[in-house]
Amino acid sequence: MVRLLIVASAVALAAGSGLGCAGPRAKPQFVQQAQRLHDKALAPAISRDGDLADYVQAVGERLLEGARAAAPDKAADPVFSRLKFHLVGAELPNVFTTGGTHVYVYSGLLRPGVCDTEEELAAAMAHAVAHAMNLDVQNTLRDPDPRLPPPAVAWQFVTNRFTPQQEWAADKLAFAMYARAGWDPEQYGNLYLKLGDRYPGRPENGRAPLSYRTEAGRVSGLEPQRRWRQPPVADRRTFNDLRRSATSLGTAATGPALLAPEAQIILWALPNCVLPFDLPGQVQAQELLRPRPQAGPPVEPN
Ligand SMILES: [Zn+2]
Repeated sequence: MVRLLIVASAVALAAGSGLGCAGPRAKPQFVQQAQRLHDKALAPAISRDGDLADYVQAVGERLLEGARAAAPDKAADPVFSRLKFHLVGAELPNVFTTGGTHVYVYSGLLRPGVCDTEEELAAAMAHAVAHAMNLDVQNTLRDPDPRLPPPAVAWQFVTNRFTPQQEWAADKLAFAMYARAGWDPEQYGNLYLKLGDRYPGRPENGRAPLSYRTEAGRVSGLEPQRRWRQPPVADRRTFNDLRRSATSLGTAATGPALLAPEAQIILWALPNCVLPFDLPGQVQAQELLRPRPQAGPPVEPN
């Protein structure tokens, strides 16, 4: 009996502390919206290369472990234990979460001169995981309407962007989970420095220049520990092999004009979370999603 009581009070304590610590949680209607977008539109763009799929998922899982250490209250939401990281054939640097259990890692990230190391790929992916954990989609978009077709849902992402504050918060949380997950903190900013040279241009929508993003680690308040360090998921050679397979993913590398499928248009149209502005091909794709004005009733001539 005494033992039972102890068990019962331990359960009550666990339930109570769970309730006490839990911050805001992912709303089911947003999780469902992301699932619809995936099933109805984006799934065909996923790479069928099993090794690449496993690798991207493994890097993502390790980021989630890092997030559980860096932000346990946020990472405790059961939705995040179901996060799927998809490598999609889209030849631009981007990684995007649609607000549920799906993170899209663009094949353009694995081009030579973009993510040349696993650390650079992990840094980019960490940013999207941070948006997911911060619930930025549900904090930004209006409540989902299940009747909206996928292009109209994607258009909402175009017109309701993450704010500069959300971007900066995502960068800081990204650094924390990256470092806790065991990658070299010194290498966190490499990707952004390199992209700043490769894609010069003025930041848009109030976004910070890429050079600021390299500072996220310094201002995160986190003192990286040596004992957190782990070897990368793939050694250098394996990483390069995987990258070569990713390069052959996209058949058309010239932008969305040649890519008819809806998945490509939507992937290109989603705002760029790696660069501080959208590339011309993205703006083109966004125009394809723009809702057309409804034609009025025909006017009878008098
Ligand atoms: Zn972002």
